[in-house]
Amino acid sequence: MNIDLSDFHEEDVLSIHIEGELKKDALDINGRKIKFIKPIKYEGDIYRAQGDKILQVKIHYEYKEVCGRCLSPFIREEDTVLSGRLIRNSDEILDEEDEVIYYDGEELDITEDIRDMVILSLPMKPLCSDTCKGLCPKCGTNLNEEKCNCVLEEIDPRLEKLREFVPKE
Ligand SMILES: [Zn+2]
Ligand SMILES: [Zn+2]
Repeated sequence: MNIDLSDFHEEDVLSIHIEGELKKDALDINGRKIKFIKPIKYEGDIYRAQGDKILQVKIHYEYKEVCGRCLSPFIREEDTVLSGRLIRNSDEILDEEDEVIYYDGEELDITEDIRDMVILSLPMKPLCSDTCKGLCPKCGTNLNEEKCNCVLEEIDPRLEKLREFVPKE
C-alpha cells in the first residue's frame, strides 16, 4: 500500500487524507501468537506544520490470542496512533528521539510503521482479563468457569521428599 506524495509537494495542497486496511493474518512475537480476526484499519492525514510534513494515523485492530494463565483463547480490540514527521530517506540525519517516518522518492509505505505500532501497543501480557484466575495447578480446572475442591498447600520441597517414605493408604 503506497501513498503517492507527489501532489503534496505543491504548496497549495495542505493535507492528504489516507485510510485503508492492512491484511495481516498473524504475528509471532517472542512466542506470542497474535491472530488478527479482521484487517487492521487505519485512517488519518498527512499535513503541513511549520515546514514539516506530519503524519497522524489512527489504527484499530482486533485480534485473538491465548491467555497465558487460563489458556483460553480471547478476542480483544485495541486502538493506537501512528504519528511522526515524514522525512525523505536521505534528506536528514536525526536524533533518535524524533518520531520520524521515512519514505523514498514520491511514495510512502507505512505498512511496516503500522505493524511496529501494533506490536508496541499490544498489552504486555497475554491475559483474557486482568482478574483471570487461571487454572488449578492440581486438576487443571479453569477457575474462571468453575471451582474445584483441590486443597492447595504450599509444599516445602524438603517435606515432599519425606512424604515418599510415608506409606500410602
Ligand atoms: Zn485467562
Ligand atoms: Zn483443582
